[in-house]
Amino acid sequence: MADNDSDRVKRAIEIATKAHEGQFRKTGEPYIIHPLAVKKILEEWGMDEDTVIAGILHDTVEDTDLTLGDIKKEFGSSVAFLVDGVTKLSTARNGMRDIDTYLPATKDNFLRLMIALGDDIRVLIIKLADRLHNIRTLSALPPDKQKKIAKETLEIFAPLADRLNMGLLRVELADLAFKYVDPKRFDELKTLIDKYNKSAEKSLQKIEEEISAALKKEKIKFTLSGRVKSVYSLHKKLAKHNQNINEIYDLIALRIIVEDVTTCYLALGIIHSLYTPMSGRIKDYIAIPKQNGYQSLHTTVITKDKRIVEFQIRTKEMHEYADRGLAASFYYNEQKLTENYKKGKIEHLPTNLLWITELQATAARLREGKKVDLKKLKLNLFSDKIFVYTPKGDIIDLPKGALPLDFAYRLHSEIGDHVVGVKINGKMSNLNKKLEHGDVVEILTSKNQIPKQSWLDKIITSHARSKILHNLNRSNKPKESKKKRKPHKV
Ligand code: MN
Repeated sequence: MADNDSDRVKRAIEIATKAHEGQFRKTGEPYIIHPLAVKKILEEWGMDEDTVIAGILHDTVEDTDLTLGDIKKEFGSSVAFLVDGVTKLSTARNGMRDIDTYLPATKDNFLRLMIALGDDIRVLIIKLADRLHNIRTLSALPPDKQKKIAKETLEIFAPLADRLNMGLLRVELADLAFKYVDPKRFDELKTLIDKYNKSAEKSLQKIEEEISAALKKEKIKFTLSGRVKSVYSLHKKLAKHNQNINEIYDLIALRIIVEDVTTCYLALGIIHSLYTPMSGRIKDYIAIPKQNGYQSLHTTVITKDKRIVEFQIRTKEMHEYADRGLAASFYYNEQKLTENYKKGKIEHLPTNLLWITELQATAARLREGKKVDLKKLKLNLFSDKIFVYTPKGDIIDLPKGALPLDFAYRLHSEIGDHVVGVKINGKMSNLNKKLEHGDVVEILTSKNQIPKQSWLDKIITSHARSKILHNLNRSNKPKESKKKRKPHKV
């Protein structure tokens, strides 16, 4: 327990320690090590106290006798809400028999998964901290489990960190996981990167000197640092470029951090006056930020000794945000920001991903130092939709008010046509029961069942309606037409 922990935090540690007593991690250490590590990560990210406390308690409801009621009584409803979110998330995942079957094949699925799991964005942040500690300590698990968790980390959690613009986290998650997913390739690329960096060391030093001198001459305050490309991002880039390393232009990148936006453009001009910029490689992510809110100027230049170097130019605040993303926004609520950062950000955001825009807007309010009701961070952008699960863990989105038959037809018309009953969350239910967000829905079918007229009152989606009507019309047709009909496969 750290001395600067608040009484509430100390109390949470006490309660969690007691609750997890007698439980051990695969490493042989007492289980409490894990929630305490999650606490530390959340603190490093600058998260608010409720989130830190929820992080300490995140495994108690699922794995110990502690109940949500206990937590609510002791720490209030906000903490209880967060713990509940994390618990639901891991229950949903445990219900997924095989990670391979639920790993989303498309971006759209991924987005849906995330939204379904993230009622409150802080739940996702706790989950990311949880995953970070688990992947840091993955070596204690048996190899088959290592691979699965690593794969899931690569395909779900690292992209999620990216969506939240948590750059440092993305890199750590991805590289740790990739090492388990493909150890041989990891070593190969790591060696390649190290070699490349080593060979570039001298000329890089010279470039740094030239740039520094030029910036100083213009009386620009700056910090300059090299960034090492992560193994996993190189792996992905190589795949995109037919494994041709000569097409990877950002193996070496230098970051210039300056005081304000105007100076970013000034610095860009200075770089271009020193070296030849490659055409088509100048990217203004300040005027047009990436979808996750990332801002920076990028340019690739060819130096005097024919090296290809990428420069990334941004303000301190943009840099913090690129590293820590959403978590940084929470942090900045406490730390007053400069006028420059308060402006600039929000109006240029693309609107194609609504939830990010909403997130950014909330983050901006936080950055402006305005008190934000954290409950408003709930992503209720999809309030007209519910997300329910199949027993296998697939996520199906339906309009609010949808009924079991809507769900069944959504899965497949062959399933819809033969419904005889439904289990909701493991219990027998009936076809009039409105589905709720997070329900696990299992459809019972029988080959002998056919759609009935009365079903039309038990659906709300037009998709289900048209399927049922189609079928009713068919079975109402006079006998002779039936002969012509192709045999109906069930
Ligand atoms: Mn955990």
